[in-house]
Amino acid sequence: MLNINKLLDKLEAWGCYPEVYDGCIEPGYDDGPIIAANWNHVPKSLQRAMDNAIDASDLECEWSDEWTLCGGCNKAVRTSPTSYGWMQSYVILNGETVCHKCVQDDVPEYLEHLGGGDNVADLFGMDFEEMGFERWNGRYENGWYPGQNDTPWEVTKKIQEKYPDAVVVFKVPSVGQFDLYFEAYYVKDAEAWENVLESA
Ligand SMILES: [Zn+2]
Repeated sequence: MLNINKLLDKLEAWGCYPEVYDGCIEPGYDDGPIIAANWNHVPKSLQRAMDNAIDASDLECEWSDEWTLCGGCNKAVRTSPTSYGWMQSYVILNGETVCHKCVQDDVPEYLEHLGGGDNVADLFGMDFEEMGFERWNGRYENGWYPGQNDTPWEVTKKIQEKYPDAVVVFKVPSVGQFDLYFEAYYVKDAEAWENVLESA
């Protein structure tokens, strides 16, 4: 029978781009080892031997183009949606994939990322008010339905009309099939921003 190392060699040779992850940090999944590959390239004649080898292991099978590695904890995160309500559980910080858990190891870096532009938003349920931000107005909507045409750059503009030096961050609490909701938080000026970063 194939053992896992031999199986990996074979998958490599078949052009399946196998990848083994020691754990899984994706919400809703068990934190166990994963083998990801392009299974389409497994020859039919060897399918059964491969299935047996995987069944005998504790590996879960996934598709290699749907997962990537968190650079912090070396566990797997999904890169492709499983449903309409799915939200990405990682962020790219300085070119590195960082999962929702590892983001907590360097919150100031994450805040700099969020405060650096109005095309990014927190998807991990950060408590911005607890950190010293103020909430701006209510809930914004962007989507396909009439009236769902709020945009973060317009919200940023409104906030900065009142507080020209405000730093604004956004949060997306949930997404639907055709729309998403977002919330805006701000600090008034550079000093308040420094305070938030220092105490984060
Ligand atoms: Zn991680």
